[in-house]
Amino acid sequence: MAVTENAPAPKRERWTAQWLELYDEVVTTGLCTGCAGCVIACPHDVIGYDHSSGGYRPFHLEEELGPDDCIHGQKGCTSCTRACPRFRTWETEADTFLFGRERLPAELSGIGKDIVLARAADPALAAAGQDGGLVSAILLWAMEHGYIDAALVSYLEGDGTSWKARPGVARTPEDVLAAAGSRYTYSANNLAYDDAVEGGADKICLVGMGCMTSAPPVMKNRKIGKVGRRFALNIGLLCSKTFDDAIFEELFEAKYGLKKQDMVKMNIKGVFQIWMRNGDYHEVPLKECHAWTREGCTRCPDFAAEHADISTGGIGAFNDWTLTVIRTDVGREIMDGMIRDGVIETRPGDDDPGAIDLMQKLSRKSRKRWPETAVAAPGAVPPLPPKVAPAAGA
Ligand SMILES: Cc1cc2nc3c(=O)[nH]c(=O)nc-3n(C[C@H](O)[C@H](O)[C@H](O)COP(=O)(O)OP(=O)(O)OC[C@H]3O[C@@H](n4cnc5c(N)ncnc54)[C@H](O)[C@@H]3O)c2cc1C
Ligand code: SF4
Ligand code: SF4
Repeated sequence: MAVTENAPAPKRERWTAQWLELYDEVVTTGLCTGCAGCVIACPHDVIGYDHSSGGYRPFHLEEELGPDDCIHGQKGCTSCTRACPRFRTWETEADTFLFGRERLPAELSGIGKDIVLARAADPALAAAGQDGGLVSAILLWAMEHGYIDAALVSYLEGDGTSWKARPGVARTPEDVLAAAGSRYTYSANNLAYDDAVEGGADKICLVGMGCMTSAPPVMKNRKIGKVGRRFALNIGLLCSKTFDDAIFEELFEAKYGLKKQDMVKMNIKGVFQIWMRNGDYHEVPLKECHAWTREGCTRCPDFAAEHADISTGGIGAFNDWTLTVIRTDVGREIMDGMIRDGVIETRPGDDDPGAIDLMQKLSRKSRKRWPETAVAAPGAVPPLPPKVAPAAGA
């Protein structure tokens, strides 16, 4: 049918999908990452979350209709599917909401304005961070300048020796510092949302891997209401996988005799690096760790946290700088403000072209995990250029 100038804009189809569809299309198909977006979005509090090893999944708390249906959904509630950043066309929706267009297949690491290397100017903050301490510096500056009043971050349980990551709220500079650094097991930071709101927060920053940071734009695009609107800033962590908590006992301790209570820091740079309390340093080959990959990561297509305002990573030649992708206007504004105030140092991303190439390569690899049976876009990648045969005699 021809569209005339005066024709009304096509109506959005009515959104009717509820837990029934979420369970059938995401939770039980392996697409669910355990991001907990659905849990915090549910206005009836009937979605629980399993934090245990082998879990990291939402489940329905009410028994009337069994695990796969919801009485509130039957009556018209659709909040959980509106929040889920793996439900149906989540990627094109988040792209279009944030950037006004879809990602091109060649944009393997997502749409961005600029790539820089950055680190906190305060050496103590840079040292506390996993790479350049940029994420913690952003949280401090954004709190001080009224962009946010709390952040959803990750802490370690108890005195830290359990290495069990848990979501929590950072409201003060001390909280931000206590949460700095990376843990490579899962922490569904979204779950700290209720705690932040109960503490009076209205402008919330989410820190998390791509699985989590796609939730706020998806929520906003699907008009979920207040839960979405409170997300004022979204800081992404580049990520190819997280490990099941069992890796500590079953690999590090069983094979290498490394007890988690003696570990003080870990990082992944081609190998799993572990620093011990007594000053020892160990490397565990990544291929030995793969068997402990958390199930929720095995179909995740997003390495570069493509729907964050600012995405951050540690790959590249410079260990004490954070590889930083500035994606949105608010991300740009915050980075410019921090540079102006002298709280961070930056250098061009082109200083480390290998890091950008590696980000592209790892993004391509992650995209291939997206199953062909699901909505196509997140898996779209351009073909690799043909290999050039070496010239005769070379
Ligand atoms: C599970 C995981 C996998 C990662 N994989 C890669 C990778 O493959 N390649 C790469 O380049 N970079 C990866 N990163 C990102 C990298 O480790 C740094 O987080 C990033 O470079 C920012 O460093 P920073 O010094 O600026 O951050 P910091 O100032 O140290 O702040 C880090 C923030 O991350 C939060 N955080 C820590 N652990 C977790 C967790 N498990 N879940 C949720 N939030 C958490 C902290 O609470 C803190 O607020 C990964 C991070 C995580 C958490
Ligand atoms: S991906 Fe996140 S929002 Fe979707 S079902 Fe899983 S936990 Fe819920
Ligand atoms: S690979 Fe990283 S971003 Fe993807 S689901 Fe796992 S933790 Fe989330």
